[in-house]
Amino acid sequence: MLNEKMLKLGTASSAIRQLFEYGKMRKAEIGEDKVFDFSIGNPSVPAPKSVDDTIKTLIETEDSVLLHGYTSAPGDMAVRTKIAEYIKETSGVNATAANIYMTCGAAASLTISLTALANEGDEVILLAPFFPEYRVFAERAGFKCVVVNCREPDFQIDISALEKAINKNTKAIIINSPNNPTGVVFSEATVKELSALLNKKQEEYGKEIFLISDEPYRELVYGDVTVQFPARYYANTIVCYSFSKSLSLPGERIGYIFVSPECKDSALVFAAVCGAGRALGFVCAPSMLQRVVAENLGKTADVSIYNTNRELLYNALSEYGYTVVMPDGAFYLFVKAPESDAAAFAERAKKHELLIVPSDSFGMGGYVRISYCVSTKQIENSLPAFKALIEEYK
Ligand code: PLP
Repeated sequence: MLNEKMLKLGTASSAIRQLFEYGKMRKAEIGEDKVFDFSIGNPSVPAPKSVDDTIKTLIETEDSVLLHGYTSAPGDMAVRTKIAEYIKETSGVNATAANIYMTCGAAASLTISLTALANEGDEVILLAPFFPEYRVFAERAGFKCVVVNCREPDFQIDISALEKAINKNTKAIIINSPNNPTGVVFSEATVKELSALLNKKQEEYGKEIFLISDEPYRELVYGDVTVQFPARYYANTIVCYSFSKSLSLPGERIGYIFVSPECKDSALVFAAVCGAGRALGFVCAPSMLQRVVAENLGKTADVSIYNTNRELLYNALSEYGYTVVMPDGAFYLFVKAPESDAAAFAERAKKHELLIVPSDSFGMGGYVRISYCVSTKQIENSLPAFKALIEEYK
């Protein structure tokens, strides 16, 4: 007898994956350039040259056995020290190697952090719209998920709705800024209000409420918008970071967890993180990639290409009459469906060869997500189809 829950997860692929697979099939039928696939968030800009250079140098100059060998479970000490110094320098938050646990990307950072925290009866709050895997990771860890919608139309956190959702069982909340799927960056006011609310609720219930800050898009931000570092405002913060998007390394599986030293019993929280990583069988994050990212902290893939795509798509869709959420970061555009059923709208878009994801996948109806981490040419070519699609509703 198999584990029913796992069987279900393994057989029912996500709506995003299904659309991606449909796109591949459709491209084979009618040609690559005739299908406008905006389904998936796979970086379309190459990693910075310095990443490839670091890999070459490491291979040419380092002892191969050491380079490809196990590191200690939380990661290579020199790497963790460099990351801690970088966090301290860029955010002002105190950090040492003892607060850094190297992981296989944000997905691992999240599963490990959630597993480290969950006890029977605990609840985690997800802010909709949210990355669909949050529910998968949280429920597997043993959490009950409680969903709170963000505030429309700006998609900042709805603090009063959140206040109503917090109760004696609330153990954690996951936030994600810059956000997938909205592209919204939480303002300083939002982060301060969130921190004040969580502090108030911790006092009211006499227990810790952890803020899990999922930050794979931290550096993907446009214009003069600043991404807040929640650990500056709230003590019980665990940051789940990844280099997948910032350095365009999603297949290399590398990231880290930062347990703030200000967390209550921070060393014990860190020990539980180590325990969860062990129980989940991670052993250690990829050794060579640990070394690579440590040499490339603060660097990003060429974000200007995403910015060109963002402006092109945002301006054109707004002009055609779509209601579009202004994206300040990540590489997603969140667009209001012109009919109440977003899935029906996405289905209609397919007739124009536009592959866009209904927001129901992200825990909230009424919108679609367009991933603009594609070539600028694809966006230019797709614009007549977007125009024809909205015309059908006029
Ligand atoms: N969190 C969010 C919000 C994401 O969008 C993604 C990937 O798309 C992840 C986590 C997982 O990222 P990683 O590839 O680092 O595991």
